[in-house]
Amino acid sequence: MMTKLLHLEQHPGVNPNSFKSTITSVSDDRIELQSTGYYPQGGGQPADKGVMVGTDFECKVVDVRKRDSVLHYITDMSGTPNVGDQVECTIDTLWRNQLSAMHTAQHLFSALANEEWGAQTVGNQIGFDRTRIDLQFENRDAFEADYMSDMVNLAIEDNMSVKMDFRPSQELIKDPLVRINMDRMPPNIDVWRTISIGDLDVCPCAGTHVLQTGDIPPVEITRVKSKGAGRLRIEYILN
Ligand SMILES: [Zn+2]
Repeated sequence: MMTKLLHLEQHPGVNPNSFKSTITSVSDDRIELQSTGYYPQGGGQPADKGVMVGTDFECKVVDVRKRDSVLHYITDMSGTPNVGDQVECTIDTLWRNQLSAMHTAQHLFSALANEEWGAQTVGNQIGFDRTRIDLQFENRDAFEADYMSDMVNLAIEDNMSVKMDFRPSQELIKDPLVRINMDRMPPNIDVWRTISIGDLDVCPCAGTHVLQTGDIPPVEITRVKSKGAGRLRIEYILN
């Protein structure tokens, strides 16, 4: 059964509310729900964590994966959950808030590297402590880490608004601020959840974000590593 993803309609993605739902499937290590506010791992962003409480049980949610439905991987079960039980779920706020800031910073890195050097983001792994982005350059020798971090920190100081809406793919294809190649996105999706940052970037994205760039702490690039022809892996932290 498809699980309704509540986080897609929520913005900003910080300080997530607890939510109620109903169990649709239970096994030893996982629970499925009718709807979920937990972010399932995807787009380089790790899954949410939290606590699920029912009338007759309580457990930790340690990982969340989207398949046909959303699978909530659970540990530390006390009591017995059953299909049909009502549950109340809380989401680890510290974890979510930091990942939302890291993820929004990644939008800034990707957009500014594209604007300055024409670089394309070809991979990313958001982390709580550090995040890495793989950038593909025409001429990677032109890249300067100090300049990159200065540009991102200026965009943070500018306190640009981060907006979420739903936009048709035909509109995104024509928008010059869309820096990713829409031809590489799944063609069967007509309307995209879209994140716009000031007049810098427009990006189809299912992740969680802060409300304005000023909510991101200053960034520091901690590592730049070669990943083959024209490609650099940039690692950053939030200070
Ligand atoms: Zn995003």
